Amino acid sequence: MTDYNSMDDADFRKMVRDFVEAECPAELRHVSRRMHRHEVWPWTQKLVAKKWIAPGWPAEHGGMGLSVAKLLAFQEEFDRLGVSRAPDMGVVMLGPLLIKFGSETQRARFLPKILTAEEVWCQGYSEPNSGSDLASLRCEAVREGDHFIVNGQKTWTTLAQDADWIFLLVRTDKEAKKQQGISFLLVDLKTPGITRRPIRTLSGEEEFCECFFDNVKVPAENIVGKLNEGWTMAKALLGFERIFLGSPKQAQTALSRLEVVARATGAMQEEAFRDRYAQFNLDVSHLASLYSRFADELKRGGVLGPDVSVLKAFAAGLYQRITETTIEAASEIGVKQGPSPFGNESVDPMGMFHLARPATIYGGSTEVQKNILASAVLGLPGA
Ligand SMILES: Cc1cc2nc3c(=O)[nH]c(=O)nc-3n(C[C@H](O)[C@H](O)[C@H](O)COP(=O)(O)OP(=O)(O)OC[C@H]3O[C@@H](n4cnc5c(N)ncnc54)[C@H](O)[C@@H]3O)c2cc1C
Repeated sequence: MTDYNSMDDADFRKMVRDFVEAECPAELRHVSRRMHRHEVWPWTQKLVAKKWIAPGWPAEHGGMGLSVAKLLAFQEEFDRLGVSRAPDMGVVMLGPLLIKFGSETQRARFLPKILTAEEVWCQGYSEPNSGSDLASLRCEAVREGDHFIVNGQKTWTTLAQDADWIFLLVRTDKEAKKQQGISFLLVDLKTPGITRRPIRTLSGEEEFCECFFDNVKVPAENIVGKLNEGWTMAKALLGFERIFLGSPKQAQTALSRLEVVARATGAMQEEAFRDRYAQFNLDVSHLASLYSRFADELKRGGVLGPDVSVLKAFAAGLYQRITETTIEAASEIGVKQGPSPFGNESVDPMGMFHLARPATIYGGSTEVQKNILASAVLGLPGA
């Protein structure tokens, strides 16, 4: 078993790059939409065979056992090369949760099939009236003998139509304070009573689903951790997501595409455009150095404070502004759906624009991040 953590950083990055260059097909790189399971299946199988499917999991559970520093490097190389995400909710969210809070039986049952990608998971947290205020969720699970009966609805469930299982936050105690009556439940999507209805996004893609649960019978042993402690567990594992979502990669990629477009259409010849382009370059550099500051803290074994919210808010806003400018720089081609040739390259300005829109919503909206900064960092009075 390779000890990746003792490798020199440059050698490690090169190894990752070489593998991706050799094995990840061009059509899965820099794609401006979320790809479906069948589209990324051969590439997923390459990762499975290489035992690289779960870079952040400990080696004893079948992962690469990467340290925080190496995990960030691994992710940065994948991002730089524009690798499309394989279905990864099981790897990124559920696996670490089971490793930390699951029973031995649950780990033995579920982890191996995540590692082979045989079982794909989706995340059932949000509901029609519970997004930012997630703790108000109402989808309920009532104990009946050795089962729970689940009733309610989830929404914005990314790629639920491709998944085999869903992990749910469900209300198991209606009387308790709202965060305290929530449990974490694993549900087989083949169980009778579940309906998945795909939602078509602005870009015309079916990227997520509404999921309906009508008297769905779930074995009681599918609860993870203790009853009514689902909220604490789910929150405990959000730490790493907060820095991933603030990575400069999306803005950097968008900026490189903007440059291709502006050179091809001649926008780069205009002084006013060049000013904006220079400002974007500065903003992206600022974002990258801000990101390094938080990443270094993690690498030193530190814990991120509420100030990390500035990273996600800045990254998402900048990403959106660059994609808006790409549409302008592309002129009339900018409003066309799908990739177009710009010089020797192919760019999809409208696809980029659509992909950037939800960045200010998922993973905690920009308004919510600003609230956190106002109250927990600046000490301003709450609304
Ligand atoms: C691309 C994408 C993928 C997603 N995938 C998943 C998934 O797989 N599983 C899942 O469970 N969920 C998923 N979500 C849902 C996501 O978590 C929610 O959209 C998010 O939490 C926001 O909730 P909401 O949509 O209900 O908006 P709301 O919370 O209703 O917010 C609406 C607006 O009000 C603002 N707002 C809300 N509260 C405040 C406040 N206190 N102060 C100021 N402004 C406020 C928000 O910023 C926003 O502008 C996904 C979302 C997107 C966009």
